[in-house]
Amino acid sequence: MAYVITDACIKDFLCVAECSTAAIARMESDAAAGTVSQVYINPDECIDCGNCAAICEQNAIFSADELPADKAHFAEKNKAYFL
Ligand code: SF4
Repeated sequence: MAYVITDACIKDFLCVAECSTAAIARMESDAAAGTVSQVYINPDECIDCGNCAAICEQNAIFSADELPADKAHFAEKNKAYFL
């Protein structure tokens, strides 16, 4: 079960620094080009430690099994970014 970033993300990259497995994509260049609206977690790299969710000041990150109902589609969106 991976963690998932939702659309509350403001791309401050605090979570990127917290992740020991580099599961969170660094999207600075894409963001500068206006091609992404948030960062994403690769579910194949995430070890479910929860450090990213703890540091997120926007409350944008949830364990996949604790996603609010209106954010459930972000699990697939995070996964799809890395396909
Ligand atoms: S839960 Fe841990 S391993 Fe997974 S993305 Fe967050 S910081 Fe990285």
